[in-house]
Amino acid sequence: MTQDSDRTSTDQLTLQDPTKRYPTISPPEQSLPGTGLDAEMAPKADLGEESYRGTGRLVGRKALVTGGDSGIGAATAIAFAREGADVAITYLPQEEKDAEHVVEVMQREGHVVAKLPGDLRDKGFAQKLVDWAVESLGGIDILVNNGGKQVATDGLEKITDEQLEATFDVNILAMFRLTRAALPHLQAGATIINTTSIQAYEPSPTLIDYASTKAAINNFTKGLAEELAPKGIRVNSVAPGPIWTPLQPSGGQKPEDLPEFGQSTGLGRAGQPTELAPAYVFLASPESSYVVGSTIHVNGGMPTP
Ligand code: NAD
Ligand code: MG
Repeated sequence: MTQDSDRTSTDQLTLQDPTKRYPTISPPEQSLPGTGLDAEMAPKADLGEESYRGTGRLVGRKALVTGGDSGIGAATAIAFAREGADVAITYLPQEEKDAEHVVEVMQREGHVVAKLPGDLRDKGFAQKLVDWAVESLGGIDILVNNGGKQVATDGLEKITDEQLEATFDVNILAMFRLTRAALPHLQAGATIINTTSIQAYEPSPTLIDYASTKAAINNFTKGLAEELAPKGIRVNSVAPGPIWTPLQPSGGQKPEDLPEFGQSTGLGRAGQPTELAPAYVFLASPESSYVVGSTIHVNGGMPTP
């Protein structure tokens, strides 16, 4: 973080005032190219490199995290490694710089770490990714479907076919495909965690395509949870609110909306990626053994049904 003058915590387990754990940021209007790079964000986001403390909750587990190069996926991958898991991440080729940073941080924990770039829109990639992850890690028992696409537009008429199809492809169709490919490898005790959004409950007029995919993810999560519960495989989701990640300054918000980003939450500030990580750790770990088809809301205080 660059604006850390009034930050009160050193890690997530220290008692602190949540309104002050991180400063209220006011990101400058900016438009990062492509999916954006964490390395180019201003201000910097906290992925937990120094602030996430592990307590041995995922020792020996094997996790595959999509979108694990940056933002929420990166923070989750780092937390998983720090909790003792072997971790494989996937991301787009142009995000290699971010992926290298996350891998370097995870390698400090001394467990297996692997990375494979690829496009989730490519129908053949799901099987390739699963085969590679199984080989790299010696299996999979945590799947985090987190990669996502969000493009803000001025309403329905401005949503092109290309944007519509790409958003559904990345956010929901790829989730079906990847989960289907991973299933033969998942044994009782395995967990699947899908990243949904506050947008599934409170769609913004600028994000109706994205918000629709997030509602679909909620339904997919609950239906699949019912299917897999008798096999001892638990499926749940995490619904973030406004989190400071590359997705936002690379078109996820209109540039003019960035200076106020996250300030309308109860806590009055945007969330940092590492503040999501404990929810993923909890859902991945056996301590959530009776939590099935549920959603953990991590949104700074935005009422949800
Ligand atoms: P992010 O940009 O850091 O992560 C999204 C990742 O998705 C990218 O890093 C990229 O690797 C991956 N991705 C995008 N298109 C891809 C493609 N075609 N093929 C392969 N990978 C692709 O942003 P984030 O905010 O951490 O996003 C993670 C998840 O959180 C997404 O599902 C997003 O919808 C969700 N979410 C974010 C917020 C927020 O405020 N940031 C709020 C609610 C939900
Ligand atoms: Mg990224």
